[in-house]
Amino acid sequence: MHCPFCGADDTKVIDSRLVAGGDQVRRRRQCLTCDERYTTFETAELVMPRIVKRDGNREPFNEDKLRAGLQRALEKRPVSTEDVESGINRIMHRLRSAGERELPSRTVGEEVMRELRDMDDVAYVRFASVYRDFQDVSEFQEEIRKLTAKSRDPEG
Ligand SMILES: [Zn+2]
Repeated sequence: MHCPFCGADDTKVIDSRLVAGGDQVRRRRQCLTCDERYTTFETAELVMPRIVKRDGNREPFNEDKLRAGLQRALEKRPVSTEDVESGINRIMHRLRSAGERELPSRTVGEEVMRELRDMDDVAYVRFASVYRDFQDVSEFQEEIRKLTAKSRDPEG
């Protein structure tokens, strides 16, 4: 990183140690140009990206909201709570590993559909019909057709 004093590119690390119980690395750096010393702290960024809604508003990622959405689609369907929780974990893992600070709500919706498609066809269609806000019946029927084709094809 650039030296905060003179802006030079090259700095060297003169000391490096774990702090905050091992959750942070503290580095003492020295600028090769102006010899000033400064400290940087390095932590793993495991925060969830913020969600950009369709209207452009931003909101913090909300795990409860994600869970509620899945549960609504899975109401009275034979899917265990454990499977729902692993689905939520997979979704969150993929959203985090996108490495973005912000993600469109569309991306979250697509991830939910991806999980539901594997869990339960009825729940998938329920969610998709609300989420995609199908413009007309034919679009919806196309989605059903794809599902039917999938269940007929054992490889699918
Ligand atoms: Zn410098």
